[in-house]
Formats: sequence, structure tokens, C-alpha cells
Amino acid sequence: MIRLLLAGAGLAALAAPAVLAARASAPNPLLPPWTGPYGGVPPFDKVTVDGFKPALEAAMAEQLAEVDKIAADPAPATFENTLAALERSGRALDRVATIFGVYSSTMSTPDFQKVEEEMAPKLAAFADQITQNEKLFKRIAAVDAARDAAGLTPEQKRLAWLDYTNFVRAGAKLDPAAKKRLSEINQRLAALYTKFSQNLLADEADYVLYLDEADLAGLPDSERSAAAAAAEQRGQKGRWAVLNTRSSMEPFLTYSGRRDLREKVWRMYYGRGDHGDAHDNNAIITEILRLRAERAKLLGYQTHAHWRLENSMAGTPERALQLMEAVWKPAVARVREEVADMQAIADKEGAKIKIEPWDYRYYAEKVRKAKYDLDQNEVKPYLQLEKLREGMFWVAGQLFGFTFTPVEGVPVYQADMRVYKVTDPSGRLVGLWYFDPYARPGKNSGAWMNAYRSQERFDGEVTTIVSNNTNFVRGKPGEPILISWDDATALFHEFGHALHGLNSSVSYPSLSGTNVVRDYVEFPSQLLERWLSTPEVLNRFALHYQTGKPIPPEQVRKIEQASTFNQGFATVEYLASALVDMKLHLAGDRTIDPDAFPCPPRPTPDSSG
Ligand SMILES: [Zn+2]
Repeated sequence: MIRLLLAGAGLAALAAPAVLAARASAPNPLLPPWTGPYGGVPPFDKVTVDGFKPALEAAMAEQLAEVDKIAADPAPATFENTLAALERSGRALDRVATIFGVYSSTMSTPDFQKVEEEMAPKLAAFADQITQNEKLFKRIAAVDAARDAAGLTPEQKRLAWLDYTNFVRAGAKLDPAAKKRLSEINQRLAALYTKFSQNLLADEADYVLYLDEADLAGLPDSERSAAAAAAEQRGQKGRWAVLNTRSSMEPFLTYSGRRDLREKVWRMYYGRGDHGDAHDNNAIITEILRLRAERAKLLGYQTHAHWRLENSMAGTPERALQLMEAVWKPAVARVREEVADMQAIADKEGAKIKIEPWDYRYYAEKVRKAKYDLDQNEVKPYLQLEKLREGMFWVAGQLFGFTFTPVEGVPVYQADMRVYKVTDPSGRLVGLWYFDPYARPGKNSGAWMNAYRSQERFDGEVTTIVSNNTNFVRGKPGEPILISWDDATALFHEFGHALHGLNSSVSYPSLSGTNVVRDYVEFPSQLLERWLSTPEVLNRFALHYQTGKPIPPEQVRKIEQASTFNQGFATVEYLASALVDMKLHLAGDRTIDPDAFPCPPRPTPDSSG
């Protein structure tokens, strides 16, 4: 496959194992086709960090040999001898890069980070070596030009268009000097992206706020017990730790009655990568923007934004901006109303404050109680992580006929992970779903879906392997994990991405599952997350962790009534980032100081949230 390192893995037998054999004095367990049940599974039990570099190098050499063979084929280019052959190539690299990616996002130890820093630029250079292979590009262009006359299936035509377009967008038509510069830029960018995420991860791990008993005012029991466990894990038994991740920051800012500590936690989280220390990302952002602008110009685009959006549904930065600006004004107006509600409560309490960003979640919660009589702490006991997981499985059964069954003995990279097989009503294996639920050092913040192996069938059916990754903070052993309504929504959302992957039914892996344009991929997940709030799911799975009773209908009604509550903040929070990002990338090749860059107008002088 020539998607290279974006996502996915294939499972056909290696076409050219000669390269492997040549250096196989001690076989690298990451290279061979995955073995075991379910069409083979990732060998997480055999991974060593030392093994990544030799495995990636051998796999890159193998794919280069495969690609050279395709490019040098004396027969005229056809779909089969060029594009299908490319889909068949790079299987070993897909496998190794998949596990490499899993480590990068979930097991990023200092040892691994060293390997990543070394390999990221090499992988970028390798990708350019393929897209800059002129003989290969001529063959791809020939297949694409003849796609209507060649009797191809619609799917094959799509792949021809996609391969051709991707090669052109990656610089296949440039002259040799421009190609050389492009590859230098890509290698430098790969190094900068790696450093950027490692800095972020470092700030999430290094900045921890330790609390003593007197600092706990307002925190509910579930947060206290999670914070106590987090402190104990860090050798501070008897204290409480607020971690610098979203799942730790959000409940703290929502409940802590200590305004001074709220400000500390807010600054710690929103200042990630901006502390002026060894992990500061400002200079990295400046350089990334400069290189992206230069690359866009080399490729014949006005700006990076124009290049990036060309193959999306929005199509142009102008259109994307239009969409965002249409939402911006009403969202800001709504935030003003929300802040006024908060200020009124603060004034009534005699707090003598002006609402600041670190007050936002705290007073939003008070407004929610006052206006909708909805207390998140009364909802939380009904939102047990494992019950909700059962609820997601039930939804997948209702909608797609899928059955999820836990399986044992499949290797995992963390002992607390679980693996489920997914079957359809005829009992046919649809794929595997891996669940990695808990926060830990070295794991990215937030929640996401990953594809370990993409579905395909052109050389025989290959089933999907996907994972969902979340950062729930573990409480005491044996206690159910209670999560917030927002986290429950995120859980269903990411599971929606997993279902998108599991529902894939295509011939070629480059077209499978979530390999769709970036601004389409959120559609299935946003649709599927909505099943959480249905009475069908809540009555069955939102069960009180002590009584087992379903969430009372009046609570559900309150949740529904409050469903548009705080949407001004939620919308402005993501839209402000999106607008700044767009403007940074439309600014062209001038030097940008991220701290000084003009921001969109703030909703009010004191309430950016
Ligand atoms: Zn999503």
C-alpha cells in the first residue's frame, strides 16, 4: 500500500521476503505477517523498543525494492500491474509502522522517544523517495489517464484518481531541485512534529499539582479518590494529585471552590508548551508555519491552507472560513449570555469577582443547577464506564447486527487492555476491537480511535482491527469507574469511529474504513454518539452503581432540556482554535510569533474561557 504511515496495516503474505532473509540473523518479530487467530493479530507481546529501528529500516528497504520492481516493469502500465501491485507492497512497513504509531501515542517512554526522533525524518524521506520515483509516477499517471477507457470498476477508478492526486499533491511533478528542497522540508517537519508532541506530553507528565486536605474544597468523592490514587502512583501517598490532562483538569475546574487553585490548574493546562522552558513549543510553531508556507509555494499553492483543504469536502479556505464565521457570531453572542448568567450568580453570592477563564466551568455548573436543576454529580453515579461500554455494544447490535465477545490470549501492550471479537448475525468474523481505557504516563491526552489493520478483499478477505483509546482515571480497585456526561459522549463518539472502520466493505485497503477525507470522517462518529442520549440506551445501561436502578426519567428530561446549555462556550472553544489555526496558515511565509499573533476577537474582555 502507498498510504505509507497514515494508518492501517495489511496482512497478505510478503511479496519479496529476500530483503528480510538477507538480514535475518536474529529475526525481528515486528516484520513477519501477523500470526495467531482472527487472521493474525499484532505481536504486542514481542515488541521491544530496540526492535523498532532495525524493523523500520528493513521494512522500508523491502518496500523500496517492491516499488522499484513495479516501476521497472517492461509491460505497459495497467491497474493490476501498477496500482493493485502498489496496494500489495509495503505490507511489512504497514505492520511495523502501525505498532510504532501505537507506541508513539500510548507508550511514549523516554527510550521510545529517542527512536522516534531518529526515525520520523527517515520515514518522511522514505515517503518522498516513493512519490518522487519518476518511472512509478509515469505509470500511475498512465493508469489514471486511461481510467474511463480501461473498463475499471468505480472503486478502481477512485483508487486511480486518489493515487495520482496524492502523488501530485506530494510533489511528483516538480523539477529535481524543487523535489530535493521539498524532501528536506518534509524531513525537518517530521522532526518538528515529533518534538512538538513530545513537548506536550512532557508538560502533561511533568506539571502535577499536589493538594493537601485543606485544598479539596468542593471536590466530589469520585474526584478525590481518583486524585488520591494518582498521587499514590507518583509516590505521594496521603496527598491528592491534579494531573495536567483534560480528564483531570476539567472536573477540577468544574468543582474546586478554591479560585487560586483553579487559576493554577487553568494556567498549567492552557500553558502546555508555552512555559518558556525546555519544552516550549513557540519556536517550533514558528518554524513549522514557515516551512509549510514554503512547501505550499513550491507545490504551486497560495498557502498551506489552500493545499491542505483542496482534497477536503470544504475544498477551499474561503469556504471553510465562511462555514466557521457563520457560526462564530451567534456562538459569541451566546457566550456573552452565558457569562452574564455566571456573573449574576457570583454577584448574588457576594464573590466580588469578575468571571475569568478559570471561573468559567465552576460557575457554569452553578448556572446549570440553578436553571435546569441538573446536578452533574447526580448524573454521574448512573454513568458507569463498563455499563456504557455494554450500551455501545448493544447499539452496534441494533444498528449493524454486530456482536462483541471478549477474547482471551490475544497479545496486548498493557495488561489492563481488553480485546473483543466482532461478528455479524451469520457468525462471520467482522474484526477485532481493542480497548485501552486508562490514563498513564506516556499516553496522549484525550480519546481517539486507531486502525491497526484495514479491511480489504482484493487478494482475499482481510478483517479490520481497530482500537479505542481513552484516558479515564482509575479509582480504587474494585470500584466502578464513574464518568461525566461529556466523557460518555466522547466514548460513544470514538466508538462511532471504530464502527465506521468495522463497517468497511471495499476491495482495496487504501479506500477502506476511516481512510476518507478529513472533514467527512467526523460525520459517522457525530451521528453515532447521539445514541447515548436515547431512552433505549439510558434505561438499559445508565444504571446507578449502587442500586442498579436506571437513571430516573426526570433526570433524563433535565439532561435533554440542558442539552443546549453551555453550547456557546463549547462552540467558541473549538471554533476559536480552528479560526486561529486557519489564520496562521493563511498568513503566508512571513515570520510568525505565536504569542503575538492576532487572535479572533474575544467574546468579552474577561471571558474567553
Ligand atoms: Zn471524532
